[in-house]
Amino acid sequence: MRRQCDRNGLGSMTAVLSALFAFLVMHQTQAKNASPVSWISPTAFSPKPLKVASYKGIDENKARTINSVNGSGNQECGMSPEEFAKSYPPLAAWIRNTLTASAPVAQIVASQGFSRLPLYFTEKTLASTKVVLVDPLPIPPLTSMGLARFKDFVRGNADGITYIDTIFLKPTQSNNENLHFHELVHVIQWRLLGPDRFLLSYANGLECFGYRQSPLEAMAYDAEAAFASSRAIFDVEKMVAAKLGL
Ligand SMILES: [Zn+2]
Repeated sequence: MRRQCDRNGLGSMTAVLSALFAFLVMHQTQAKNASPVSWISPTAFSPKPLKVASYKGIDENKARTINSVNGSGNQECGMSPEEFAKSYPPLAAWIRNTLTASAPVAQIVASQGFSRLPLYFTEKTLASTKVVLVDPLPIPPLTSMGLARFKDFVRGNADGITYIDTIFLKPTQSNNENLHFHELVHVIQWRLLGPDRFLLSYANGLECFGYRQSPLEAMAYDAEAAFASSRAIFDVEKMVAAKLGL
């Protein structure tokens, strides 16, 4: 979901949260008359165990512990589906409002003029994925959503973050094709898993493995490294589906 820039160190929690609340007020005002986005309904979440079958090819040890990540029992870390179900509606509402409010300034990735992305992603994906340049990036008020355990994530610094089909980037990253590639991997993950499974898997991956080693991030970083270091073309959408066991 997020591309982290460790070089910049940790930002100020207070500043981030202040900016968030200002951002939220703005979005709530702008989104008042907007129509809801049907594919992330706050009521769509099912309390049934969410199965993220496997993360093939990432790490054997992680694959063995993935049952603890998907919330299907015997877990030593991560949220249960029941616990997640309480946080999902406000988080889904926040994402819905954020995307609605940013839609007027969003551009599609296909319009950005990158030469290599069309070799790795379908035309449809590049035409349907949006990019919003903004600083600070929109980060959910996790603490107020009962997700205080992820406050370190809020505190960190990031160059980009993706919600559903929209990539938010700091303006300094507008020409960074590698970062666009990384965030596009997350777009495919969101699409294949659906918002509820993506968010539960992402949250539990963060808690169980840490940001950089969390399965969904490791997948994005590994693919980005392959993209950056080689001209070998591969189908990212098929790769993500295979690694998710879908
Ligand atoms: Zn990422």
